[in-house]
Amino acid sequence: VLLIDTGPDLAHQLRDPFRTWDGRRYPADCLTRCDGVLITHDHADHSHGLNDLRHLNRLMGGQSITLHGDAAHLDELRRMFPYCFSDPDRNYVLANPALLTLPLAIGERRCVGDLAVERFTASHGCAGSVSGWILGGTCVYLTDAKELPTALDERLRGMDLLVLNMLQEQPHPTHFCWDEALAVLDRLRPRRTVLTHMGYSVRWADWQARLPPGVSMAYDGLCLEWKPA
Ligand SMILES: [Zn+2]
Ligand SMILES: [Zn+2]
Repeated sequence: VLLIDTGPDLAHQLRDPFRTWDGRRYPADCLTRCDGVLITHDHADHSHGLNDLRHLNRLMGGQSITLHGDAAHLDELRRMFPYCFSDPDRNYVLANPALLTLPLAIGERRCVGDLAVERFTASHGCAGSVSGWILGGTCVYLTDAKELPTALDERLRGMDLLVLNMLQEQPHPTHFCWDEALAVLDRLRPRRTVLTHMGYSVRWADWQARLPPGVSMAYDGLCLEWKPA
C-alpha cells in the first residue's frame, strides 16, 4: 500500500481507524499499513494531513513510514513538521508520527512495497516544481503541473492510466486549465485519463457531457484498477 501525498483530509481517506462510522467496519474498510508515501510537492493542500500518518505507525507496530520525493520538497516538510521526523522510536512513543525521508533522483527507479516507482519533474509555474510519478510502468500520476517538458513525452506516452490535474476552464498561473490539460492528453495519448485537483468553479455534473472518450473526472472515494507492467 502506498500513498501519494498527505492532504488535509488524510484521516478521512484512511477511514480513521479510531472510529467506526458510515457503516464502515474497522479494520476491513480501513488502511492498516503503508509501505511509503510519494510526495508531489510541499504545498499545504498536499501535506497538511501528515500528522495522521501516526495512525498507520501505530497499526504497523510503531514501524516508521518513509516519504519519497524531491530532496528540496522533503526538506521543506521536515522544516514544517519537525516533530514528525526526529527519533522515530521516541516519536512514536509520544504518539507523534514516525517518518523518514528518502530523496529519489529524477529518472531513478525504486520499489516501494511491491510497486516500482519512478519520479519525473514538471513545472508548477511560479510556485516551483512538482514531482510526477510513474507507477508500475503503466500509470502516471501528475498533479499541480502548469507545464510538462516535451522531452518527457516519449517516456510518458501511451500509459494505461494517467491521473492529471485540471483546475478550471480559465487559464491559471500555476495549474493546467482545461485547454492545457487537453493539450497534454493529445501529446501523451493515454488509454484512460482521470482528471483531478479541480477548483471550486468546476461542478462535476456540469462537466460529464463534455469529457472526451477515455477521460473521466475524479471524485472522493473513487476506486480505479490498473495493471502494473
Ligand atoms: Zn501546489
Ligand atoms: Zn495543489
